[in-house]
Amino acid sequence: MSKALTIAKFGGTSVANYEVMQNCARIVISNTSTRIVVVSAAAGVTNHLVQLAHTPLTQQQIEEICAAVTKIELAILDKLPNALSVQPKLDDLLSELRSLAFHEEILKRADLKDQLLSLGERMSSLLFTEVLLEQGEHALNFDVRKVLRTDSEFGEATPNIEKIAEQADAYLRPELAKAIIVTQGFIGSDEQGRTTTLGRGGSDFTAALLAEGLDAQVCEIWTDVNGVFTTDPRITAAAKPLPELSFEEAAEMATFGAKVLHPATMEPALRKNVRVFVGSSTEPEKGGTWLVRDCKHEPPFRAITRRKEQVMVTVKTPKMMYAQGFLQQVFSIIAKHRLSVDLVTTSEIAVSFTLDNPANSVAHRLNKETIAELETICEVKVEDGFDLVTVVGNHMHSAKGVSSRIFAAIAEYNLRMICFGANPHNISFLVNEKDSSEIVRVLHQALFEVS
Ligand code: ASP
Ligand code: MG
Repeated sequence: MSKALTIAKFGGTSVANYEVMQNCARIVISNTSTRIVVVSAAAGVTNHLVQLAHTPLTQQQIEEICAAVTKIELAILDKLPNALSVQPKLDDLLSELRSLAFHEEILKRADLKDQLLSLGERMSSLLFTEVLLEQGEHALNFDVRKVLRTDSEFGEATPNIEKIAEQADAYLRPELAKAIIVTQGFIGSDEQGRTTTLGRGGSDFTAALLAEGLDAQVCEIWTDVNGVFTTDPRITAAAKPLPELSFEEAAEMATFGAKVLHPATMEPALRKNVRVFVGSSTEPEKGGTWLVRDCKHEPPFRAITRRKEQVMVTVKTPKMMYAQGFLQQVFSIIAKHRLSVDLVTTSEIAVSFTLDNPANSVAHRLNKETIAELETICEVKVEDGFDLVTVVGNHMHSAKGVSSRIFAAIAEYNLRMICFGANPHNISFLVNEKDSSEIVRVLHQALFEVS
C-alpha cells in the first residue's frame, strides 16, 4: 500500500492572479500528502478562448481577445522572481494561442477548438509550477494529456478509465516521489494524440479521475466558497454551509445547477471511495464540505439548487394519439443532435421537455437544424426565459409530507413543469426566470429556516 495521497485542485478564481496563487501554494505545501496539483485556467481565460473558438469575429475583435488573455497571463508572469526564464515557455503558448485564434478553420474544426481551449490550463499550470518552485519546493509541470486519455468527442470528451489508470501508473506515479506534480484540469488527449476537453468546469472531473487512477485517498477541490451550501448564498444570505454530503446528493446538486462541482466529479470518487473536500483557497482555515459515500444523516431536505437558461420545447402532432413511435422519433432526433433532456411531460397530443441552453457552453445547444428536423414530424414551439429549481434530499418519494411541504411553500407561483426525479434525491420545477430567486428564498425559508 502506497503512502497517503491527496490531489488538490484549484479553480479559476484561485489561480486568477499571482497573489491568490500564493494562497494555493500555502495550502499545497502545508499538507505533505499533497503530491498532485490540478489547476484550472485563470478566471476569465476559458470564456475568452470559447469566444475565439465559437464566435465569428473580426480581426480586430480577435486581437482584442488575445490581448485580454495575454494581459492576465503576463500580470502573473511579471510578479515571478524567475520571470525571465519562464517567459520563453509562456511566449510559445501565447503564440500558439494567436495562431489558433487566427486559424481560418477555427470555427469549423472541433479538434482545433479544443487545442485552443487547452491553452488556459497549460498556461496556468506553467505559472503555478513556478510559484511552487520559488517557495523552494520541488515542483514539476506535467502534461496531463499523456495520462488523461479520452475518446474523440471534442468539447465533451469521455475519459477512458482503464487507460487513465494504466498511463497514470506508468508516467505519473514514478514522478510522485520526486516532486509535486502540477498539471492541467479540463484537457485530455484521444487515441491519435489530439487534444480534447471534458466540458466546461471539467477540472474537478480531472482531479477525481486522477485520484481514481492513482488510488488517492482524498481529492480536494479548492474554490472561492467555503464548501457547499444549502443554496447559493448569493440568492439568500440565510444559506448555510453543509459539513457533509453524500456523493449522490452532491451529484444531484451539481447536475441541477450548484456551481461548486462538475457533475461528473462524483463518479470516480464513488467508484474508488475517494473522499472529496470542497473549501475556499482564500480561507482554508474556515473548513468546508466533505463529500463521502455514506453520510451519518440523511435528511429529506439537503439543499436547493437553481439552473438558469432553460428552454422548454413543446412538440405537438394531432396524430399523436394514434402515432405509435412518435416519442421515439422525437427523442432520436434529440439524441442525434446530442442534446440532453432534463424534464419531460406528456399529454395526449403534446410532449414538452426542457433543455439546458447556457451561453459560453461548449456543449451542443438547441439550434435551427434540430428545430427544422423536429418540424418534419410535428409542430414545434420553443420557449425560453425559464429556470429550473430543484430540491435535493433523501427518501423524497417515500418520506411523508415531503412534497406537501414543498408545494405549500410555493403555491402562489406559476410552476410550468413539475418533476419527481428518477431517483429519490430530487424534485424539480420549471419556473419563470423572474420568479426563481424568490422561489428559492421562499423554499429555503420553509425547508431550512424553521425549527
Ligand atoms: N477552465 C475550464 C472552464 O472554465 C475548466 C475548469 O475551470 O474547470 O470551464
Ligand atoms: Mg469550476
